[in-house]
Amino acid sequence: MHSNCEVEKLVNSDEVSIEKESINRSVIEYAVKDLLLGLGEDINREGIRKTPFRVAKAFFEGTRGALFPEAGLDNTNKIGHGGGVGGLVFVRDIDLYSYCESCLLPFQIKCHVGYIPSNQRVVGLSKLPRVAEAFAKRLQEPQHLADEICFALHEGIQPEGVAIILQCTHIPFPYKDFDSNHEGWVNILVSSGSGVFENKNDDIWSDLFSLVKFRGIEKGKVVIKESLDDQCYNWCPSFKVEEIKYSPIMVNAVSTIIKSIGEDPTRKELIETPNRFLKWLMNFQYASNIDLKMNGSIFNGEVKSIIWSEFNVPFWSQCEHHLLPFYGVVHIGYYNSEGCNPIGKSLLQSIVHFYGFKLQVQERLTKQIAETISSLVGGNVIVVVEASHTCMISRGIEKFGSNTATIAVLGHFSTDLAARTKFLESIPSVTSFEGQ
Ligand SMILES: [Zn+2]
Ligand SMILES: [Zn+2]
Repeated sequence: MHSNCEVEKLVNSDEVSIEKESINRSVIEYAVKDLLLGLGEDINREGIRKTPFRVAKAFFEGTRGALFPEAGLDNTNKIGHGGGVGGLVFVRDIDLYSYCESCLLPFQIKCHVGYIPSNQRVVGLSKLPRVAEAFAKRLQEPQHLADEICFALHEGIQPEGVAIILQCTHIPFPYKDFDSNHEGWVNILVSSGSGVFENKNDDIWSDLFSLVKFRGIEKGKVVIKESLDDQCYNWCPSFKVEEIKYSPIMVNAVSTIIKSIGEDPTRKELIETPNRFLKWLMNFQYASNIDLKMNGSIFNGEVKSIIWSEFNVPFWSQCEHHLLPFYGVVHIGYYNSEGCNPIGKSLLQSIVHFYGFKLQVQERLTKQIAETISSLVGGNVIVVVEASHTCMISRGIEKFGSNTATIAVLGHFSTDLAARTKFLESIPSVTSFEGQ
């Protein structure tokens, strides 16, 4: 039981932190307005009027761990004493997300936690994900995250040893030059061990890896940080993108956000983070006119029954509600008049890029692509956009890998069910971005 005085103290400290949080939130909101202005957006536009509020909310919810690092295993009294427990406890496939400390974009994590109890001290299985999550919810880097989870669990459970394996996946930075060979998703496998797991060459690790082997995890693929120099270890794709001079107002806005979520923007790893975040963000600068070479595919008025299609045209975009990436593929079908050449893939790709590289919502992206192609081919167009949204990941609403499909139909496709079905059924069932 708390005495009155203690309760009062608790209430007061809560009030202070609530007040501080609301100040920090409004500071982030102002910073986000600066970023939107820097992108050339009208901050009073209906679609983005609430964006500063949403971004601040998402940053706060996504980095709670930084504010409450003690969440989880602080109270050793809560650790049970199981009977007859001696062997390995292994919890696999804990889905987490974190923010990349190098570029501020969210990255996905599959976390596997193992420990060998000592003196029959076991911890509730739901605790392990909660501890892992507390450390994921801050600006992170994979190896550091693995070490932190490992250390916290070791301190909390005091077992014979703790082993952590993390599979981390980072969104690739976009390429506008669609002919170039594009690098895919960045995956990294890291591990951390304490106690009996301290030596990573030990047989006990082999046991562990055999338990996750069917997930494509192999011991040989684990990155050993100590054996790489910093340059090789930097997994964030922002390091490979050339730096441009960004407006000091925008750089300052990003540092302000970093500071407001409780991080120190002068920490060595974070000094360049505003610039690297802007390398991503400035891809989505507002552009008002489309400059496409549209020769060679002029519609001559006849509708013939040939459906031309182009599947898996990749796109990147930035959700205008949350300032977070969404990405995926576009499938395009259209009727072309006989004798006309189909629209070249590069033209379709540049239409997709044009509408992708700005602040968007998926429905509008789909519609704009359809309307533009419609003006080239005379009105009979179907467009399907399959996208994954990192804002859904960070709000924890959707499971990883789930995606949203939107469809726009114009002309013939809106009235002819058979044509629609024919096109939809011809979409390859494994689209090129799902396998990432
Ligand atoms: Zn990054
Ligand atoms: Zn969103």
